[in-house]
Amino acid sequence: MNPSTQNFMEQVLRSRVYDLAIETPLQEAHKLGKQLGNRILLKREDQQPIYSFKLRGACQKIISLTHEEKARGIITVSAGNHAQGVAYTAHHLGLNATVVMPEIAPAIKVQAVEDWGAKVVLYGQNVTEAEQFARLLQQQENLTFVHPFDDLQVIAGQATIGLELLKQAPKDPYTVFVPVGGGGLIAGIAAVLKTIRSNIRVIGVEPEHANAMTQSIQAGHQVKLDHVDTFVDAVAVKQAGFHPFQMAQQYVDDWITVSNHEVCMAIRDTYENTRTLMEPGGALGVAGLKKYVQQKGITGETLVTITSGANADFDRIREVAERLRAG
Ligand SMILES: *Cc1c(COP(=O)(O)O)cnc(C)c1O
Repeated sequence: MNPSTQNFMEQVLRSRVYDLAIETPLQEAHKLGKQLGNRILLKREDQQPIYSFKLRGACQKIISLTHEEKARGIITVSAGNHAQGVAYTAHHLGLNATVVMPEIAPAIKVQAVEDWGAKVVLYGQNVTEAEQFARLLQQQENLTFVHPFDDLQVIAGQATIGLELLKQAPKDPYTVFVPVGGGGLIAGIAAVLKTIRSNIRVIGVEPEHANAMTQSIQAGHQVKLDHVDTFVDAVAVKQAGFHPFQMAQQYVDDWITVSNHEVCMAIRDTYENTRTLMEPGGALGVAGLKKYVQQKGITGETLVTITSGANADFDRIREVAERLRAG
């Protein structure tokens, strides 16, 4: 293990995420497994107290700040789930938090952030535009910035999912499908799994019109998209993070993109298997898993995916059902 990997693994092992986050169940999706001819396991991150895994990274990062950094107050940028992680953590530690969210952020996410006592500023059409404004506020008000994905402490927090999988999954080898936005989630999970069990495969899943990471991997450098589709709001970033990109290059085996229609179908599949309505990002991994299995003709294997969040507006659920009915 090289020194930077060792340092990262130490951070993961010493992480403080369980001060606020829970160890989520790894649940078998029997019906979907039967349909696809594989054993399918869902890592239920939608069951975290804020209904997404983002609490892990936010908690790990904020706890690791110095007293002085905490006292200045925290600022972040987020499509909504990281915002809730920061607001929840700040509330529990008694810190001030400001969150810049893009105007497309679902109301349920904005409301939750306000309910935890954070200040919300709505700005821009996507996370990348909102981030520029957040950086300005940070300088003006001398706040401490907590990035949603391009930060090694945040990545170490998300990486605790990898440790839990090593404990919970029955036996390796297996393949893990991870939904990708800025790339913090996949970077952390892949780093842990590959360092400890190199025979576990990790595959990244992105929406076809919000695939900054896939394009970056293909190009060999970080690519910035001109336009990003926001249907899967939780992963609508123009540019993946620098650390996540580097770690993904090193640890991720393969990539797949899916259409919004495939995401809608995956929301239905996930509902039928869990009786929980995922947000589009929460079902993205299932959509990628299904498509990959069909493309490659995989049978009889163990396949794992992360149901990463369930913060969908109620109206959004109607939209998904109507899109499916329209075919
Ligand atoms: C943030 C998020 C992702 C993607 O995580 P990144 O670290 O940005 O790649 C996936 N699903 C949901 C529900 C999210 O909130």
